[in-house]
Amino acid sequence: MEIYFYNTLTKTKEIFKPIDSKEVRIYTCGPTVYKDATIGNMRTFVFMDTLRRMLKYNGYKLKHAMNITDVGHLVSDADEGEDKMLKSAREEGKTPLEIAKIYTERFLNDLKELNIDMPEIICKATDHINEMIEFVKELLKNGYAYETSTAIYFDVSKLKEYGILSGINLKEQKAGARVELDEEKRNPYDFALWIKAPENHLMKWDSPWGLSYPGWHIECSAMGRKYLGEEFDIHTGGIDLVPTHHENEIAQSKGATNKIPARYWLHQEFLLINGGKMSKSLNNAYLLRDIINKGYDPLTYKLFCYSSHYRNKLNFTWEAIDSTNKALIKLKEGYIQHLNGNEDIEDNILNEYEEKFHKAINDDLNMPVALSYVWELIKYPKKSKKIAELLLKFDTVLGLKIDKKINNKEDELPDNILEMIEKRKKAREEKDWKKSDEIRDELNKLGYNVKDEKDGMVVQKI
Ligand code: AMP
Ligand code: ZN
Repeated sequence: MEIYFYNTLTKTKEIFKPIDSKEVRIYTCGPTVYKDATIGNMRTFVFMDTLRRMLKYNGYKLKHAMNITDVGHLVSDADEGEDKMLKSAREEGKTPLEIAKIYTERFLNDLKELNIDMPEIICKATDHINEMIEFVKELLKNGYAYETSTAIYFDVSKLKEYGILSGINLKEQKAGARVELDEEKRNPYDFALWIKAPENHLMKWDSPWGLSYPGWHIECSAMGRKYLGEEFDIHTGGIDLVPTHHENEIAQSKGATNKIPARYWLHQEFLLINGGKMSKSLNNAYLLRDIINKGYDPLTYKLFCYSSHYRNKLNFTWEAIDSTNKALIKLKEGYIQHLNGNEDIEDNILNEYEEKFHKAINDDLNMPVALSYVWELIKYPKKSKKIAELLLKFDTVLGLKIDKKINNKEDELPDNILEMIEKRKKAREEKDWKKSDEIRDELNKLGYNVKDEKDGMVVQKI
């Protein structure tokens, strides 16, 4: 079945044709590990997961690289301000490497909680300094870069395609160009490839330009080329990366190899809060841990992400998380009902559902539509093991662990609730069903849903 993607590069929905018919090569811009990743960031990685799972569902093998930015991302995306890693290190009284280690681990842990299918290659910027230096050398040699007393810059006026991704028109921008900090810059949109380090700068490496450190964009160009080649299939990231980071990645690759590195550029729209931006730097962001600490299964957040197409904005509210959590419980209950069912269902009905689900995920990852078919099957009046089997197949794309118990750790429940659970367990062991029902009703009144499954009792805050 054909796969369609909306390609930011061509601004159209296109049929997907990978360079190699069996293996798809993907690059994802990973996190800057200077603070905890927010659930906004996580929306982008849930999207990455869905993309991977959908391609695998279609039979492709994957070679997928995701970077960890542990140097070079300045506070402003326009090459201004301090390096984000150094700022956090200073604020937290740690070394930049310690900061990177802490937040990389926490990020990877969040991916695990969200049951994210991991890229085959995870690469850190600081492990690829030599590759980046080589890239900058090539750009200098090809005449796309120049040196000033503070940095090596990419000269955007040398590339007629500059702006191809974001549609920015440099001639129109000139009139309103911002005030530059570096007067040696030739054009306002020139960006730093390599930055000469001030004496007391903590992260710096030996290079042909003295002790210095990389700009943010060069890391992805260098690592993408190293692991995936000069041309690969798909490049992903959040929508905010289009006019800066990704535009500049394209410029760098054009300058070095005369190729646009990826054929399909896929961008995730933002997760909002109160209709506005949620971000680490604005300090208005929630973490996945906040959702878990309120007693919700982390996969609730993943299911919540599926409520909107990845190219639409999505507004975060706790009410929505609460109702999505109930939906996740219903989904799992519905699966169990089918698994325990003995009714027959005609194969053509199942085939029809499989076809519709497949078409929805292949249509630029239309998860809201795909999920609507999942719900139709869950609610299907005949309860059949064949439906359970099909749902499990769909779950290879959804990644919601529909066959597993809801994951709310008992030790996060308040003591009085834990006590009641213990009493109910005892009542059930003693086959005192009346008492067991009474305690269940009491728990419901206190706002806890109780479900008895084959392998035990599941208690979940409603
Ligand atoms: P960062 O750690 O800031 O480099 O961001 C990591 C990824 O998360 C990038 O692809 C960003 O574009 C993306 N991102 C940041 N904020 C949001 C948000 N509110 N919603 C969706 N994606 C986001
Ligand atoms: Zn990147």
